[in-house]
This record gives sequence, C-alpha cells and structure tokens, in this order.
Amino acid sequence: MDNLKQVRKKIAELKEELNAVILVHNYQRPEVQDIADFTGDSLELSRQSTEVNAETIVFCGVHFMAETAAILNPDRTVLLSEGSAGCPMADMINVDELREWKQRYPQASVVCYVNSSAAVKAESDICCTSANGVKVVESVPNNDILFVPDQNLGHYVSTQTKKNVILYPGFCYVHHNIKPEQVKQAKELHPGAKVIVHPECRPEVIDLADAALSTSQMLRYAKESPHNSFIIGTEEGIIYPLRQENPGKSFYLISDNQVCKDMKKTTLEILARTMELRQNIVTVPEDIRVKAKQTVDRMLAVGENPKPPR
Ligand code: SF4
Repeated sequence: MDNLKQVRKKIAELKEELNAVILVHNYQRPEVQDIADFTGDSLELSRQSTEVNAETIVFCGVHFMAETAAILNPDRTVLLSEGSAGCPMADMINVDELREWKQRYPQASVVCYVNSSAAVKAESDICCTSANGVKVVESVPNNDILFVPDQNLGHYVSTQTKKNVILYPGFCYVHHNIKPEQVKQAKELHPGAKVIVHPECRPEVIDLADAALSTSQMLRYAKESPHNSFIIGTEEGIIYPLRQENPGKSFYLISDNQVCKDMKKTTLEILARTMELRQNIVTVPEDIRVKAKQTVDRMLAVGENPKPPR
C-alpha cells in the first residue's frame, strides 16, 4: 500500500474512533478536499457544523473557521487541522481596535466579516460572509454601518446598498494582490471567458468582472452558466472543485500568485497527526462564545445575496 493510501486509511480509522466529521474549506489542497465529509465556504461550513451528527468536528481551514464551529457547537470537540493556520486579515483587527472605532462612530451598527476572531464577533452586532454581506447590511435597521475588517468586501457591499458603510482598512493579501492590469491581460488571453472574482478583491478588479461571488456561489455559477470558459479571481484551491464538477469547461486563474499560505499548511499527514493526538482543540471562553453566537446566529437567519445573471 502506498503512503497516501495508508494515510487515508488512518484518517478513516481515526474518524470512526473520534466519531468525527471532517469539514474542509474550498481553498484547501485537492487531496484534503478529497477526504472531506463536507466542503464549502465559511457560510456553508458554519451551517454544516450545526447539522452534523458527530462528537468531534475536524476543521481543515484556518483558525477563525474552527473558532466559529466552536462558537456554534459548545458540546462538540473542535479540532483545527493545523494549529498555526491563521488568517492575516482576521488578525488585522482586535477587540481594542474595534472598541476604538466604535467610539469614533457611536451611531453605527457593527457588521463583522466572519473572518474575525470570536472576541471581535462578540463585540459586533451581526456577522456576515462574502455570500451574504449585502443581505446582512440590508437587514440591519441602522443606516450607518461600521464594516470590519475587510475594506474590499465592505466597499463591494457599499455599492449594492444605499446605507452609509464605514470601512475599516483590513484586507486579504491573496485577493488584494490581484491587479486590474492582470485581469485585462487574462481577458486578452482568454477572450469571451466570463470573469468571476471574490468580493475580497479590489474595487477596480471587481469593476472589470462579470460577477463578484463567494466560492460556493462561484461553483453554482459555473455549473449553471451556459458559458464554457471562466477567469477566476480567488484563491487557487477553488480550481480543483470547479474542474471536477465541470469537466467540459475551462478555468483560468488571473495570476499565478493566488495562494493563501495558511490554507495550504494542512496536509493529509498533518491532519492524521492532529486527529491521532487529539490536538489543536479550539475553544472559546463561555462569556465571549455566548455573545459571539448571537452575532453569528443573526447572520444565519439572513439568506444569501441575490443571484447575479449568468
Ligand atoms: S485567503 Fe485571505 S481571507 Fe482567506 S484565510 Fe487566506 S488570508 Fe485569510
């Protein structure tokens, strides 16, 4: 038996032992996506974590995702596949910084992107993901919205609503590094291809795209679209499920630099070790968890953004 098969077998045995489900983000390595019970984006995986019948949730992604699962599932053990996998954007705001911004804009409601710590969620009014940011902002009665931490997602939301959206200056380096000139070059290289980008991209990049979508929305868009070729503006991990689900269609990245280092830290060997040693358990102090859960629950009660035309 080759090494990969052995590791897969070990993970399957450990899953039984731990009574575990494995949730895997769309940006993970293909071989990790292959052993998932469920793959998806943050919104889908948050929802999924509450519906699974298991004692242990093993999250292959980054820290805030496992933390969100822990917020929603206090009676289950949540393991993060690789303990050092974090999100540099989520780390761009802490509670003290958020409190300072709240003092600057006392009239505003705080909408926090799910890419944030449990403590920041606990200090916010409602959470959102890239799939439902517009709907969430629209659901808030207040006209003034302080949007943290992603300036690009916040800006995209501001173009879809009449509300006054105040932007905190965080960003995701993977998406922020995609430049408009690169989109133009990709369009020249692949004429006629539909350009779909993530709302964490710069406004100038979104302006050149046919649609700004979360990763699960991209998967649905590509499947339902009558078009056959697509230029993709998000982390490169999404190309694997796009190609698997659409064998007759072509997918091209805008640049060769669309890689999140933290998302790629998890390998099958690391995952097996985490499960074997029951390590990287993610917990949230109860007072913070209860407040953060209210923020996430308010989001889960709101649906997704309306579908763009195909
Ligand atoms: S892709 Fe960007 S937002 Fe997602 S985990 Fe990596 S750094 Fe964070």
